[in-house]
Amino acid sequence: MPPDETPEILLIRQTRPDVAERLSGRFRLHRMEEAPDREAFLDAVGPRIRALAVGAMCPIGAALFDLLPRLEIVASFGVGYDTIDVGEARRRGIVVTHTPDVLSDEVADLAVGLLLATLRRIPQADRYLRAGRWREGSFPLTTSLRERRVGILGLGRIGRAIAQRLEGFGVAIAYHGRTPQADVAYAYHDSLLGLARAVDVLVVAAPGGPGTNGIVDAAVLAALGREGIVVNIARGSVIDEAALVAALTAGTIHGAGLDVFANEPHVPQDLIDLDQTVLLPHVGSGSHYTRAAMARVLGDNLLSWFDGKGPVTPVPETPWSGR
Ligand code: NAP
Repeated sequence: MPPDETPEILLIRQTRPDVAERLSGRFRLHRMEEAPDREAFLDAVGPRIRALAVGAMCPIGAALFDLLPRLEIVASFGVGYDTIDVGEARRRGIVVTHTPDVLSDEVADLAVGLLLATLRRIPQADRYLRAGRWREGSFPLTTSLRERRVGILGLGRIGRAIAQRLEGFGVAIAYHGRTPQADVAYAYHDSLLGLARAVDVLVVAAPGGPGTNGIVDAAVLAALGREGIVVNIARGSVIDEAALVAALTAGTIHGAGLDVFANEPHVPQDLIDLDQTVLLPHVGSGSHYTRAAMARVLGDNLLSWFDGKGPVTPVPETPWSGR
């Protein structure tokens, strides 16, 4: 390939050194965040950009695409892509890729940890000890996972990995999604409300976006009952956060373990003030091991694309059929 044909890639909120190191051997890289004047920067390099390498939860859509007329591919870091306008990408013939599978086990591990932490009040017990309160008396008894019925909203890659782990805990497992899955023995519910009525733990593992916005609402929370526990490792938008605060405050449900929030990194003070919540700063895939695996998949997609072999892991909305 002649030097002037080196593909140019724009990095947006993509700061991993391993990604940049791998891509710099093959592509000319530009970094959005390093440009003092982003408008002038995009005017200058935008017409040459053929690919984006973007961080998780990066808003990408028509306004940016308009400035990148040669854009062919958006490689996103993470499996969820609800902040990327994939319909608009598809209309423009732009492929979007993500990093599925390599993070499922890590996120499922965290989901189970968050469930146990919420039920057994592990962070609260840690704070109790550190505050010297053990000397005053034993930590109060907690709720339990014993004899629980767990419902999974979204039995996809991560939802299945959570269910597999929970099988080892001897709890009943049920799920809701838009379609029943033939190859699992878990009870299927064709409505989320029906699932919530049948269980007392709801683990949210469905994607964000318009199809799931606020579907865990006041009625679903009420259906879980007074012992109800909600765990969310998917997207904050799936839960009506105001309804969740109201349900926790009124004792309509018992507790919540949340890794994700509607307006990250801003977390409603009401959730922070509640004693029966366990709150994490969106760390589901956040281990060195798994983030490195995600970085490899992102790089694989771009290298494969510019080798003419198509994307490795395109999102279903922009499938690759070898154009
Ligand atoms: P996936 O394999 O696509 O699974 C998503 C599941 O959700 C599918 O089973 C799908 O089943 C169901 N679903 C989709 N739309 C639905 C709707 N409107 N109502 C009910 N169910 C619906 O995705 P995944 O790889 O498991 O990832 C799931 C999500 O986890 C990602 O989208 C991402 O937002 C989140 N995530 C969070 C972290 C973190 O750090 N906390 C890390 C990774 C991923 P049907 O098609 O049958 O409806």
